[in-house]
Amino acid sequence: MNIRTYPQQDILGLKGLVTDRVDRDSFPDETFVYARSTLERGSCPHCNADRNLVIGHGRDEGRFKDVTLHGRKVTIIADRARHRCTRCGRTWTDQIPGLRHRSGMTMRLEDHISERCFVDSFMNVARTHGIDEGTVRNVFERYAAAKEASPRPRTP
Ligand SMILES: [Zn+2]
Repeated sequence: MNIRTYPQQDILGLKGLVTDRVDRDSFPDETFVYARSTLERGSCPHCNADRNLVIGHGRDEGRFKDVTLHGRKVTIIADRARHRCTRCGRTWTDQIPGLRHRSGMTMRLEDHISERCFVDSFMNVARTHGIDEGTVRNVFERYAAAKEASPRPRTP
């Protein structure tokens, strides 16, 4: 069953992404959300050339794990526009603010699994979300290091 959604009630709630369809049937315990970027073409991020000098350069489909929904794992298949600068010749893909390319997951999933790792094992957290243990460990270590670096809140 494919369910159509509308921007004002998009199930992802991620800025710059709109859901096209949701696949809950292909796998018993995982939901696939097909979404596409809605970002407008901007200036060149490399040489700052005006947006009029930037042209389309196809599409790129990336997979990102997201927080569970109704107890099911979630994978977002994000269809993003690619662009090419006619001045410097470089290409790039839309950068969706809530997606982390390094870990292949959403920023909110990184935060969620990092918090879970304080009370659960890397293996259990990895299994819950269908990601490998090494990725969980890397995400947690970056999170813990960032937390350590930030000033502690003052206790009254
Ligand atoms: Zn450029």
